[in-house]
This record gives sequence, C-alpha cells and structure tokens, in this order.
Amino acid sequence: MKEYNIYDIEACRAAVQRIQAIDTAVTIKAKHGLKVWELRNAVESLQAVNYHLFNPDVYAPFYRYRDAWQRQEKKTRLDDFLQYAVRDIVKDLRELIEMEHMTHDGRLVRNPLYESKPHLSEWIEPDRVGWMLRTFGGAPEPETAVQKRTVSIPALSQHCGFAGNLISVTLRWVCPVCGGPRGEPRRVLSYDGSRRLTCDGWENPCGHVDTYADVRKEYLESA
Ligand SMILES: [Zn+2]
Repeated sequence: MKEYNIYDIEACRAAVQRIQAIDTAVTIKAKHGLKVWELRNAVESLQAVNYHLFNPDVYAPFYRYRDAWQRQEKKTRLDDFLQYAVRDIVKDLRELIEMEHMTHDGRLVRNPLYESKPHLSEWIEPDRVGWMLRTFGGAPEPETAVQKRTVSIPALSQHCGFAGNLISVTLRWVCPVCGGPRGEPRRVLSYDGSRRLTCDGWENPCGHVDTYADVRKEYLESA
C-alpha cells in the first residue's frame, strides 16, 4: 500500500485518466447503454483513491446519468448527463489531489485531538489548532510553556491622554483567537478622539487584532 495522508494521488490521477479516456461523443442513443457500463466500471475503480474515506458524493454524477438512461430520456439529455458526469467526477478527483497536497505542504495539519483516528477531520487548517486544543483539549497547556508579558495599556477608552490612566497588565503572550504568538510590543500612541497617550501596542503575526478593550477583559478574567 502506498503512503498518503488522506487520498492516494497516484490512484486519483489514474482514475482521472481512466474517466477522461471515456469518449463522450455518442452517435446513437442505444450506445448510451454501453457508456453507462463504462462509466460505472471507472467509478468503481475510485475506491483505490482511499477505500475508507472516499466520499460517495463523487459517484452522484454517475447515478444521475444512469437514472436518466433508465428513464429513457432523449439522446441530447443523455449526451449532456454523460458530459457533466465526466467533468464533475474529474473536478472532484482534482480537489482530492489538491487536498492531499495541502497535507504535504502544511496548509492542512493533523488535528492534535484525533491523531489516532483515521477520519478526514483529523486534518485541519493550522490556525485552528490552538483553538481546538483550548476548546476540546481538556488538560490546560502547562503555564511554564507559555510566555507571559507585562505591557502598559490605557485603563479605559476615554483616557484623555492622562498617563494616570495607564494600567500595567500581565498577559499570556498568545493570541486568544488562534493560540499563536502575539506580536512584539512597541511604544505607540493611543488616540481617544481628542488626546493621545503613549502606551504599548503590538500586531499579531497571525493577523488577529487585540483591542485594548479585549485585552482589559482578558486581564480581568485571568486575575
Ligand atoms: Zn491569532
């Protein structure tokens, strides 16, 4: 058995070739009986793509074509159904290939909670890992593993530019949305609509924005 994470790319490619090799130009209606048979054999070979995970929806375009044939719809309709089936099954197979590539280059990563379960959902986008662990992970991450930072931020949104309105808060230096590291703090100006106050600000590399209001809430909840 070949090595793959979700879908066997070789098997997908072989199936794409096999399905594309079906000649969709049909001269007389009676020939569709043969095409239904040909396409059925081709889709049955799709199980090699991944026997356990193969999405049966990919077969749906074939069943639509076969049912139309059984209803004895007119030839032009059958011609269309055959062409749609070939096109849609190939498109789906290419998406499976792309998904497998995503597991290779890190656009999808193993869900740390489902490592032992051979199920599609064990692959998720990397920025969901932290959230997944915090939400369903049970045991909290060891505090020693998480860096903390003390920063100086406005204690309220209407700070009037008054330095007495600064508070010093110590936070776990991770993004509360995705669990990624927070950005490096630097001195910035907070503008309350009329006055400016010098305090700490940071931009998270993950792109999630920490508002001072959210940070104050986080600080109060952690205290
Ligand atoms: Zn984030």
